[in-house]
Amino acid sequence: MEALKRRILEEGVVASDQVLKLDGLLNHQVDPVLTMEMGKEFAERFRDEHITRVVTVESSGIAVAFATAYELGVPLVFARRKKTLLADPDALSERVPSFTKGIVTDIMLSRQFIHENDRVLFIDDIIANGDAARGMVKIIQRSGAHLAGFGVVVEKCFQAGARTIREQGIRIESLVRIASLSDGTVQFAE
Ligand code: 5GP
Repeated sequence: MEALKRRILEEGVVASDQVLKLDGLLNHQVDPVLTMEMGKEFAERFRDEHITRVVTVESSGIAVAFATAYELGVPLVFARRKKTLLADPDALSERVPSFTKGIVTDIMLSRQFIHENDRVLFIDDIIANGDAARGMVKIIQRSGAHLAGFGVVVEKCFQAGARTIREQGIRIESLVRIASLSDGTVQFAE
């Protein structure tokens, strides 16, 4: 997605050689037109997978996951982050460290909104070390649903997350792949 690359170059702020701030596009403000384009792109790439549900984690994945679900004509379910997990026999949960916040949170998805016969597309904003994604993958797998793939807006290739997911045999589609943030510069991977 060339438009997305352009916007990242224009509006992204390299906070360190590990972190790219994308508040203007993904993590604080949302551009509805660009977000719908991202949703169309994911829907196109997974069109043949007969997806029945799109799943994401709150909060930054929700906008693009909504756009994807809208294009595919299926419901969107977002896992919620809970600080304390009240016993809920209906909930699938995983404990995940947060890359940006430096805390651990529990992510939770109710069994009411994911079923064994679902074909699930997992969408998220950014993958770094992959903790959030691995937690979500475990939840989807424990639900008994089929995980058809994972669509991520920004893959930081210099961190291990996406590789660990691919090594599990899960299909990942990234809209933009970043090879490096060294020297305050965004370098895209080919
Ligand atoms: P992971 O669990 O893969 O290490 O991190 C995933 C989550 O951390 C993403 O959903 C995203 O919200 C946040 N994150 C990871 N790396 C970055 C980054 O470089 N910039 C921003 N803005 N968020 C990031």
